[in-house]
This record gives sequence, C-alpha cells and structure tokens, in this order.
Amino acid sequence: MSDMLFMNVHDLVKHFKVANSSDVVHAVDGVSFSIYRNETLAVVGESGSGKTTLGRLLIRLVEPTSGAIELDGQDISNLSDARMKPLRRRIQMIFQDPYSSLDPRMSVEQTLGEALAIHGLAKHSRKERIAELLTLVGLDPSLAGRFPHQFSGGQRQRIGIARALSVEPEMIVGDEPVSALDVSVRAQVLNLLSDIRARLGLTFVMITHDLGVVRHSADRIIVLYLGKIVEIGAADDVFTQPRHPYTRALIKATPDPFRLRREATEILGGEVPSPIAPPSGCRFHTRCPMARDICSKEEPALETRKPRHLSACHFAHEVVPPISQEPPPRLYQQRLDIIRAAYAGKDT
Ligand code: SF4
Repeated sequence: MSDMLFMNVHDLVKHFKVANSSDVVHAVDGVSFSIYRNETLAVVGESGSGKTTLGRLLIRLVEPTSGAIELDGQDISNLSDARMKPLRRRIQMIFQDPYSSLDPRMSVEQTLGEALAIHGLAKHSRKERIAELLTLVGLDPSLAGRFPHQFSGGQRQRIGIARALSVEPEMIVGDEPVSALDVSVRAQVLNLLSDIRARLGLTFVMITHDLGVVRHSADRIIVLYLGKIVEIGAADDVFTQPRHPYTRALIKATPDPFRLRREATEILGGEVPSPIAPPSGCRFHTRCPMARDICSKEEPALETRKPRHLSACHFAHEVVPPISQEPPPRLYQQRLDIIRAAYAGKDT
C-alpha cells in the first residue's frame, strides 16, 4: 500500500425514494474517506449497511444524492456519461454472482472481446490478449469458445475477473466476489485476486459481510452500519483493538477452526433497523450491548482514536478487545477430536 491518494470521497449521500410513498431509504448517509493507490480496502457490514450501494457509487453505477467523489483531484460525481466513459475504464467491478453477471448467450471469447472493443483495446491482437487474460486468471485459453453454463462457479468468477482486467483498470471494486462460491473454491479465488492485485499494482476495494474473508488480505477496513461509517483503520488495528462495539461483534462472528460460525445478528440480537427510519442518536443504540442514555440522543462523531484509526462511539475507550482466538487446551482437544472423527467418517 502506498500513501498516494487515488480517490477521495466527501460526505457522500445516496437516498432512494420508495415507489408510491413519501418514504426515503437512507442507503448511504454522509460518508467520507480516502482510497490510496495499491491498497486493499475492505468495506464491511451486514446486509442493509449500505456497502453495496457505496461500491456502486464509487464506480458511478448509481448517481449520488449529494457529496463528491474525487478521482485524481477531479470530482466525478456529476460527470456526464460521455465524460465518464474514459474514466470508467480505470475502475471496474466484479460482481457477487458470476452467473447472472455474464451473458449466457455469449462465449468467453465474445464477452472479453466485447469489453476490449468498447474501449478500442488490442484491435490487432484480440485473440492473443484474450488468451493472455484467461491464462492470468488460471483458465485454459482453449476454453475461450465455451459459454458460461459450461463452467463451474469458481471458473465463472475467474471469467468475471478476466473481464474486469481486460480494460487494464487501476482500481477494482469487488462486491462480495466470493460469497456465491463453494467454500472449497473461495480461498482459490481470494488468492487469485490477491496475487493479481500485487502483480498488476491494482487498488482493490473489497465489499463483504464477512470479516474473515478480508482478515489476511485487507490493508485497511471500513465498517459500515446503516449507511454510516462507524470505524475505519488499518486491518491489524481494527482486528486486534476495535474501537466500536459493532466491529467487535463482527469480529466475534468470524469463523475460526475451533468455534462454530455465528452470524453477527446472533451475537448482537435483532436485525439491522430499517434504513427508512434510522434510530435517533447513535444508529447502533437499539442493538448495542454498551448503550446508555446519551446514545439515543446524541450522534457520536467519527473521531481519531490513534493515527488513521477512527470510530464513532461515545464510549470507544471502553470497547474491550475481542477475546483471544486461542481456545483453552481442553476445549481445543475436544474440537480436535470432533474434527478427527469427522474426517474418519464417524458421527460424534
Ligand atoms: Fe453503543 Fe452508544 Fe457507542 Fe453507539 S455510542 S456504539 S450505542 S455505546
């Protein structure tokens, strides 16, 4: 990760009007942050946190209600389609469901060829470039004539990655890029993304509901709750010393080899409140185990807790680090016995 700024987001807001109603969904509600060149920035939160909308705002798939998105110092939040076209090439997206994001009637060669043609790339060496892209994502170039349904889920996501890379972007936004895949192929695709990012010097924004997915790959983490940033900081700091109770709950919900996986909703209790009528004061107060009177009345500011580590909680200094991931020896032995028995095909 470098300190060179790639993108600056200022007080970005996206509200959606509900059809046939005066209600408004507060999907993203005034977020500000920077994205640095060559970094992997994870945007984490439960469903309803606004993370997918934020990703789409960054690549201008949806128009912001207000706020600014600066790319190399230029505000791109209101640029016309014509002026956005050359910039779109610089920022690409990988979608959650590779099957629905690929046209089933187009072969891989046609899909990648179309992306190259739109931007006038590799005019005289298109076949070679397509073969190069497929090799880059670990697919045999001889499969270029096949159609999406002839590939596995993991292979389809590799095709989606090849399509994003085909226009030589500087930044990729991955919207839950592995959550639709089998657990067995998730690690392969994550490793591929990490490898490609390092080799090509890309900036990567990874949107996910699962902190475990970015535990070892993110440089920095943004935690979103109901359209607001509640914590932002270096990945190590956020994981070892979270400064917001919500982040702490997400960390406790990440799977590890010794605990059964639990969702954040199970640990916190209740669902994320409706973004149509967010709670007063701190939006997290209806679920927060540390909430006190002031929390429903005054909205906490996003404040610096240590250099480049900010959180929005009136009692940030009281957040206890998540318990050690080290299990007690007896529990460790019991879990080990269960795992061994499972591998031996026994039921315990
Ligand atoms: Fe919890 Fe209050 Fe902190 Fe919000 S401000 S996270 S409700 S303690």
